[in-house]
Amino acid sequence: KKVADRYLKREVLGEGTYGVVYKAIDTKTGQTVAIKKIRLGKQKEGVNFTALREIKLLKELKDPNIIELIDAFPHKGNLHLVFEFMETDLEAVIRDRNIVLSPSDIKSYLQMTLKGLAICHKKWVLHRDMKPNNLLIGSNGQLKLADFGLARVFGSPDRRFTHQVFARWYRAPELLFGTKQYGPGVDVWAAACIFAELLLRRPFLQGSSDIDQLGKIFAAFGTPSASQWPDMIFLPDYVEYQHVPAPPLRSLFPMANVTYDPKARISVPQALEHRYFSSAPLPTDPVKLSRPA
Ligand code: ADP
Repeated sequence: KKVADRYLKREVLGEGTYGVVYKAIDTKTGQTVAIKKIRLGKQKEGVNFTALREIKLLKELKDPNIIELIDAFPHKGNLHLVFEFMETDLEAVIRDRNIVLSPSDIKSYLQMTLKGLAICHKKWVLHRDMKPNNLLIGSNGQLKLADFGLARVFGSPDRRFTHQVFARWYRAPELLFGTKQYGPGVDVWAAACIFAELLLRRPFLQGSSDIDQLGKIFAAFGTPSASQWPDMIFLPDYVEYQHVPAPPLRSLFPMANVTYDPKARISVPQALEHRYFSSAPLPTDPVKLSRPA
């Protein structure tokens, strides 16, 4: 059965945050694609147009490290987003015990993640929902950021539609304190959590609630002092936490440099310039990275 006279529907790939994702063949190009069907619900007609206009902006974001949005159209009350089909994702790579992740491999994955983020931040688009299963991996080993800007376009996902904890483990402290004026720093925080996860082969800070998440962050890095993060006490959901001194983190992550204040946090371009990427061992060539069987 054809959708929009162009896409031949194949099997369902999974249920995502915003709706079902299925495999399809683009009859116009012969390319295999993944179509994300987004429930627009009982929203007014106007919302479709706003969402579509924003989506058109995402279509302009073309980069080797960002998943390509091939097409976007409304169909039977749902918004359909057509993406290039990707073989696997970083979560599957991290979980696969048959895959050895060398220091060079980890560097390569982090570099591709940051390169994708750099392009988006340059265009003032934030991801806001970075997690390993949103980092898709193609047959040539290239890692591409998926779901870019969707959080901004469609708002926070409805928990009913998602099988997993909505990216809490990757949330920056300012988001957990309810900030409304967040910036690119939220994606940097998430990228750092993913970096730690690549090294540990398990999620680094696994909070069971938003409050517990902050507790886990503070236990790992110590509670932020007023001088480290002067604006913290003005955040909407700020609550005072019992003081925890900073533990000797450097033994776990020797290069770690945790910055609580989003204004002082390293930017994506600065992170890409870090000597970590230019010093040996150099990042693995993406085509040489192993993928799950
Ligand atoms: P979530 O919102 O939970 O991150 P998604 O909506 O991104 O989930 O995706 C749901 C399922 O569809 C996942 O299992 C994912 O692997 C698969 N999927 C999403 N995008 C693609 C794609 N471009 N190519 C192949 N599979 C995809």
